[in-house]
Amino acid sequence: MRVLAPYLALYKRHKWLLLLGVVLAIITLLASIGLLTLSGWFLSASAVVGVSGLYSFNYMLPAAGVRGAAIIRTAGRYFERLVSHDATFRVLEHLRVFTFSKLLPLSPAGLAKFRQGDLLNRVVADVDTLDHLYLRVISPLAGALVVIIVVTAGLSFLDIGLALTLGGIMLLTLLLLPPLFYRAGKPVGESLTGLRGQYRQALTGWLQGQAELSIFGASQRYREAMTHTEQAWYDAQRRQAELTALSQVVMLLIGGAAVLAMLWMASAGVGDSTQPGALIALFVFCALAAFEALAPVTGAFQHLGQVMASALRITQIIDQQPEVTFPARDGAAPARVELTLDNLSFHYPQQVQPAIRDLSLAVPAGQHVAILGRTGCGKSTLLQLITRAWDPEQGELKINGVPLAGLSEEALRASMSVVPQRVHLFSATLRDNLLLAAPSASDQQLADALRRTGLEKLLDDSGLNSWLGEGGRQLSGGELRRLAIARALLHDAPLMLLDEPTEGLDAETESQILNLIQDAMRDKTVLMVTHRLRGLDNFEQIVVMDNGEITERGTHAELLRQRGRYYQFKQRL
Ligand code: ATP
Ligand code: MG
Repeated sequence: MRVLAPYLALYKRHKWLLLLGVVLAIITLLASIGLLTLSGWFLSASAVVGVSGLYSFNYMLPAAGVRGAAIIRTAGRYFERLVSHDATFRVLEHLRVFTFSKLLPLSPAGLAKFRQGDLLNRVVADVDTLDHLYLRVISPLAGALVVIIVVTAGLSFLDIGLALTLGGIMLLTLLLLPPLFYRAGKPVGESLTGLRGQYRQALTGWLQGQAELSIFGASQRYREAMTHTEQAWYDAQRRQAELTALSQVVMLLIGGAAVLAMLWMASAGVGDSTQPGALIALFVFCALAAFEALAPVTGAFQHLGQVMASALRITQIIDQQPEVTFPARDGAAPARVELTLDNLSFHYPQQVQPAIRDLSLAVPAGQHVAILGRTGCGKSTLLQLITRAWDPEQGELKINGVPLAGLSEEALRASMSVVPQRVHLFSATLRDNLLLAAPSASDQQLADALRRTGLEKLLDDSGLNSWLGEGGRQLSGGELRRLAIARALLHDAPLMLLDEPTEGLDAETESQILNLIQDAMRDKTVLMVTHRLRGLDNFEQIVVMDNGEITERGTHAELLRQRGRYYQFKQRL
């Protein structure tokens, strides 16, 4: 139950609304018990006076009572639903935003532990499941307790023995059945939550990997595995439905037994009267209605296991600590950037080999540096350390002599533009895909950036309004790279980090892009990752990495001059 504590604490924000919901639920329950009890007694009393030939019976008052209870029950139910659902949705809204705000700073280190489909499931379905806690558990339980007290107290004015018997049966039922059904429902609830997550993960995997699955003819096998999970999920749902049915049957049986007990005891006389009369009907109908109020409670506890499993899955996200944190203080982005990397070492979690070893590099402001190295040697990792996607375990990164960790996130993002190795295209218009790098850029500036990167063709059809990504135009690998360069140009920061910007481009476009880097980024500090030495003549410094370390450095000419070593590169690069 401890797992639910933080979620119960969330209810404090809307406590009055939630309390009003419980009060309205209790009023509705009591009105419905009053309605059945009063009408049962009224009909029997009317019959008794009719049979005995008495015509002085006041039927106005009970009839008005029945009508009043019916109206209160209907109105009460309407407002109870309105208020309790409104309150629950407010709590869920807060919880969802809270969970999402915890997710954001985790990126990417903390998020790497979760799969996309699983994360989505936790934020959507698991948060939704928590609405059971108030609607199905707390509110019905509070209602059932009040009903027991009010019914026992009310009936004790007529016959204390009968009242205590009915109250006792109800209290025992409330104490015994919910824990029993909680235990029975827990494993089913947990497996339901787990299977739902598994199925959605498989589904997102299937949707994302459609192309590969069909090309390799693995679609059928993948579907079969999904059907298997789906079947297990249905089975768990069936078991839960069976348990619900069982809890209803048990409640019906106990309720029926209580009604019979009331009938039997009341027929021997109610209160001081030993004559059978209309009050028998009052007790019988009261027992019938009171058990209806208890019915939802056992079912609710059966769902508690599922609620707790969902709460645990959300707690796993909320409890994550971001690997990288930024200081809150403001700070303007510098106009020029001098970058110093001092003895950096880093390795990815769960990896034995370090990705960066004892790496030092000084890049004066305005210098263009190329980083070469064979695949997997840690080039992209180095850029990720500079963008603070990860923090190094050892060593320090400095911008203009200030440790990177001392910059606010805004200042850090404003001081660097990045062309990542894997470019993400949003399913949005061309304009929106560019504006994310420079929200205040005019259409003219966007079109200009596209022209400079040789992407004017994209402006042909619907111009900046053309839809890209899913449901629209998919860009070729080279176009995507150039779009990323256009974004970096628009962002216009003093430090440019380019991860293989010319990868996959033909020789002519490659030299065009290298010229662009040369011209447009003349005053900027540039760090460019590449595999080829070709075209790097204008770079002031070229470093070669191997296995996370810098093994060689020099200018293009120097490296070329050392022919022997150059051939070594050629073999390695
Ligand atoms: P390429 O030229 O192919 O892009 P790279 O030099 O950019 O290679 P990195 O992406 O920096 O190489 O990867 C360096 C090493 O770290 C590789 O062995 C890679 O498998 C590993 N690696 C990269 N990202 C992660 C990660 N998120 N978790 C664990 N290991 C990783
Ligand atoms: Mg890389």
